[in-house]
Amino acid sequence: MNNKTDISFSNTPADELYSTLLTSIYDAFDNNAEYINFKECTITKPKIVYDTKSKKTIWSNFGKNCKEINRTLLEIKNFTEKELTTTSSINQAEQLLIKGKYKPELLISNFKKYMNLYVQCHSCKSLSTELTKHKDFNLYTINCKKCRCIRNY
Ligand SMILES: [Zn+2]
Repeated sequence: MNNKTDISFSNTPADELYSTLLTSIYDAFDNNAEYINFKECTITKPKIVYDTKSKKTIWSNFGKNCKEINRTLLEIKNFTEKELTTTSSINQAEQLLIKGKYKPELLISNFKKYMNLYVQCHSCKSLSTELTKHKDFNLYTINCKKCRCIRNY
């Protein structure tokens, strides 16, 4: 047992918590911000409105958001449906139309969850990664194009 090791182990989660808190504070105070911060990365803030007529939540810059994180529209559509247990469709303008009323905060936090699980390289924080799903075993691999780090699940 040595104290130095204990300190270095306890530092990482605390730092992560601190940056998560900073991100939440940033989001809470700046609802009109054009961008959101996600662990050292900046992406366009998802624009989400509720359409009372169709009773659908519209993610209007969905196509742009998917391209920014290098994933297909279908991939994020499926994840969103699974997380919210609802159905959705993509229109010509690459907007996601989600059945039901959902708060923008919830959709943004789901989007961040997706980035954390399936996009961001945990070594260099790059969003420039490639996702390979191994359907038979429910496993997946993330290859980072920047630092070449390979993460298996
Ligand atoms: Zn990397």
